[in-house]
Amino acid sequence: YDDRDGKIWMDGALVEWREAKVHILTHALNYASSVFEGERCYGGKIFKGRAHSERLIESGRLLDLKSPYDADAIDAAKAAVLQANGQSDAYIRVIMWRGSGMDMGVSAVRNPIRLAVAAWEWGNYYGDAKWQGARLDIAKWKRPSPDTIPTAAKAAGLYMICTISKHAAEAKGCSDALFMDYRGYVAEATAANVFFVKDGEVHTPLADAFLNGITRQTVIGLLRDRGVAVHERHILPAEIAGFEECFLTGTAAEITPVAQIGEDWRFRIGPVSRDIAAAYERLVRS
Ligand code: PMP
Repeated sequence: YDDRDGKIWMDGALVEWREAKVHILTHALNYASSVFEGERCYGGKIFKGRAHSERLIESGRLLDLKSPYDADAIDAAKAAVLQANGQSDAYIRVIMWRGSGMDMGVSAVRNPIRLAVAAWEWGNYYGDAKWQGARLDIAKWKRPSPDTIPTAAKAAGLYMICTISKHAAEAKGCSDALFMDYRGYVAEATAANVFFVKDGEVHTPLADAFLNGITRQTVIGLLRDRGVAVHERHILPAEIAGFEECFLTGTAAEITPVAQIGEDWRFRIGPVSRDIAAAYERLVRS
């Protein structure tokens, strides 16, 4: 991804894509002092762009990274990148991190807080699985408790176990890994939230130990608007066998049906998953 034409916004100005670099003694690279956003622009409009900018600022606050830019300035930076690259359908990555400079220890309050925005064309996170149904491995790692790490932040450090779990899943031919949380409840996938359907009603894990996705919140609203009951609650893995449909939600994943979890649990790509995928597609393009 580093050898491309195009512009990236860095610390207030557009720079050449290939020149958007950081020093190896960057605090974030050494100590994971970094938060980010993944957003999508559909037909020239960023879906929930302001909510993503606000979440970035809040994620930063949780990591003691005070954003040097307010939500208006971050929105303007995203618009500038899309315009400079002539993009109307794109994935947008906004990243804020503690840079290099004065200090090299864990404590580095004097180092600058930096912010960058890049955008590129990115298909569905699950590729063909979006249509055929994803197969999920059960992750060996657990989502940690909110008093162990700030689980509400979209922070790079929380993705360490996502990468190793997704690598392990892919090595088994799966599309992704499904995490349980520290208590043993069903939590989320590596970059998407999970929903289940039974008897026409929807069940989704309570977002008390993982990212309450903007897509998740959107989908809950769409379901309730359609009169579908949505139960946000603690779900035990033993209940998975009883669900009829399963789907994942996320900015990159959009709505992706799940065909199988682990070795034993299979799901049909049924009417609720299809209806909500179509409704989401209409909404993001409206
Ligand atoms: N959980 C994790 C760990 C994620 O990375 C994402 C993607 N940001 C989600 C859930 C879904 O969040 P959103 O719908 O806001 O993209």
